[in-house]
Amino acid sequence: MTGKTHFIGGIAACQAADIFLFNNDGSFGFYAAGFIGALIPDICHTHSKIGRRLPVLSKVIGSIFGHRTFTHSLLFLLLTNLLFLYFFPEQEAIRIGFLIGMISHYVLDAMTVRGIRLFYPASLRFRIAKLRTGGKIEGFFLVCLTLFICWLYLRYQM
Ligand SMILES: [Zn+2]
Repeated sequence: MTGKTHFIGGIAACQAADIFLFNNDGSFGFYAAGFIGALIPDICHTHSKIGRRLPVLSKVIGSIFGHRTFTHSLLFLLLTNLLFLYFFPEQEAIRIGFLIGMISHYVLDAMTVRGIRLFYPASLRFRIAKLRTGGKIEGFFLVCLTLFICWLYLRYQM
């Protein structure tokens, strides 16, 4: 999926979690972490939104692991969680927001033809649909996600 879809998907996932799991208690940090978490798995791709911001790191990670492998895996999710627990043990909202953003990214990329290597280093590709990245259906899906965010806001957060 494109960065735009990941951004909106991360916000939608954080908003839904905020409403249904955390009783509308989500802070700005929670949502900001979700936004960054939704983009960080594509650090392996130099042309992604996050890859363009951190080109050297992106190039190194991309050349070592390739695209949609390690950074799109449960292993990366677990390591990220452990790093947050170790370095920022008091920042639970940020850690949870970041993980929700990452999971939304995994789900969206798993909906594409290429899928993701969720169980990296195993070579098995995980896929739940066969959408084309940047295609019309993704555009339609992006509109639906945006409408979902608006509906959640109007229904539960006003
Ligand atoms: Zn991705």
